[in-house]
Amino acid sequence: MADIQKELSYWEIQALSGPWDFVVVGAGVTGLHAAIEIKRQQPRLQVLILESRTLGAVASTRNAGFLCLGSPSELQEDWTKLGENGLMELLSAKWAGIQRTLHLLGSKAIGLRNVLGYEVFARGNSRFAQAVPHHESVLPILPRLNEIMAQASNFPIPFIPKQRKNESIKDKSRHTPYFGDWKPFHGLNPVNPSNWGPDASGCIPIAWEGQVNPFLLRESLLRYARNLGIRVQEGLQVTKTGTNILSVVPASSKPDYKYNLKTNLLDIKLKSIIYATNALTCNLLSNLSPGIIPQRGQMWASAALNPVDLARLNGNFHADRGYLYYRTQQGRLLLGGGRNQDFASEQTDEWSENQLISNYLKSYSVEVLGLPENMEWESRWSGTMGFTVSGLPQCRQLQDGEWLVAGMNGMGMALGPEMGRRVACMALQAF
Ligand SMILES: Cc1cc2nc3c(=O)[nH]c(=O)nc-3n(C[C@H](O)[C@H](O)[C@H](O)COP(=O)(O)OP(=O)(O)OC[C@H]3O[C@@H](n4cnc5c(N)ncnc54)[C@H](O)[C@@H]3O)c2cc1C
Repeated sequence: MADIQKELSYWEIQALSGPWDFVVVGAGVTGLHAAIEIKRQQPRLQVLILESRTLGAVASTRNAGFLCLGSPSELQEDWTKLGENGLMELLSAKWAGIQRTLHLLGSKAIGLRNVLGYEVFARGNSRFAQAVPHHESVLPILPRLNEIMAQASNFPIPFIPKQRKNESIKDKSRHTPYFGDWKPFHGLNPVNPSNWGPDASGCIPIAWEGQVNPFLLRESLLRYARNLGIRVQEGLQVTKTGTNILSVVPASSKPDYKYNLKTNLLDIKLKSIIYATNALTCNLLSNLSPGIIPQRGQMWASAALNPVDLARLNGNFHADRGYLYYRTQQGRLLLGGGRNQDFASEQTDEWSENQLISNYLKSYSVEVLGLPENMEWESRWSGTMGFTVSGLPQCRQLQDGEWLVAGMNGMGMALGPEMGRRVACMALQAF
C-alpha cells in the first residue's frame, strides 16, 4: 500500500477504493448528468464521481447563468462554420439539455427566472462593433434562424422526464425560442431619450431565455445524484502514472474490476471511466490528444445600480457573437466576456485578471450601456471553459473502458446535461 494511503482511515478507504462499475471524473454539470443518467438507467451499478475542487467547479459554478440557445450573431457564426444541419444538431442538443435541467430539477431549486433575451448592437463606427459591424448583416437571416430553432426545439426530448407537479411542465409553453424585430435605442422618443450609451445602436429581442443561479443549480444536481445513491467525492484529484491514467489489472487475478486509477490520496478500482473534465482535459489526457482548448472567461459584478438602469437591464443580454454577456442579479450588473480581445492570453487555466479585458468591459459599460463612468465594481472572478476547433463538443470513446465528454464551447449550462446523458448511453451500451 502506498504511504499516502496511510493518511486515510480504514473507513475512508473502504468507502472510496471500490470496485466501482463507473467512475466519473469532474463534478460540473456535464459529469453530474452523466453519472445521473447511468444510475437512472441502471440503478444497481455502483457509481463514483471524483472532483478535485473542494468548492464548486471550474466552470459550472463560475458562469453567467444564462440558459439559452445563443444570440443571432453567434448562431450566424455557428451556421457558417457547421452548415445548416450542424447548427440544427447543436441547437437541438442545447434545447434538450435545457429541458432536461428543467424537468429533473424544476425551476425553484435552480433559481430560474424566465426573462427576455436581447442581442445588443453597437454603432457601425464604434470600437465595440469591430466584429459584427452592423445589425443589418444579421437581420436577413433571422426568419430562417427562427425556423431552424423551431424545428430544433420540436425534436422529441431524448429522455423520459420525471413527471413533476405544476411548475416546469406549466412553464414549458413560454419556452419557445424566437428572435424578434430590430429595435433601435435612439431617436424613438425625443421627449424621453434612451438611457443607453452613445455607442449603442439597438437590439434584437429573444422571446425566452432562462436566468439561473449556477451555484444552486449544481447544488441541486449534487443532491439529485446523491439521492440516487451516487457517491460524490470532492477534494480527490485524478493523477497520471507516466502517460497513463488507468493501469490494467490482469483478468486472472481480479475478475470484479479491470483497472486501477490513481488519485492524490488513494488508488481506486473500477470497470469503466468517464472524463468530464472540460477545460482541464488536456492536463489529464495529453497523451490522447483530446483537442480541448482552455479559455478563461472573466466576469465583473457592479455595486447596486440605480432603479432606472436596473429596470432597463432586466433580461439576458448578449453582444458580439456571444463574446460579451450581461444580466442583473440582486440589483447588481454582472458583466462578462471579452476573451476575443486577447485570445492568446486567455488560453490558460489560471484565474488571474487580464487588465486589458477588464478595461474593455468597463468601457463597454459606459459607452454602450450608458452606465456612469465612476460606477463602483464590487468583485471580479474568472472561470475556465473548454473549446473545440470544430465548435461541437466531444462525446466519444477514447479506448476500452474510457470515455470523454468535454468541450462545451462556453454553452455548457445548456449543452452539458444532454452531452452527459449521451456519453452515459454510449458507455452503458458498451458496458
Ligand atoms: C465566465 C463564464 C461565463 C459562462 N456563462 C455561461 C452561460 O451563461 N451559459 C452557459 O450555458 N454556459 C456558460 N459558461 C460555460 C459553462 O459554465 C460551461 O460550459 C459548463 O459549466 C461546463 O461544465 P462541465 O461540467 O463540462 O465543466 P466544469 O464545470 O469545468 O467541470 C469539470 C470539472 O472537472 C474537474 N476536474 C478536472 N480535472 C480533474 C481531475 N484530474 N481530477 C478530478 N477532477 C477534475 C474540475 O475541477 C471541474 O470542476 C460560462 C463559463 C464561464 C467561465
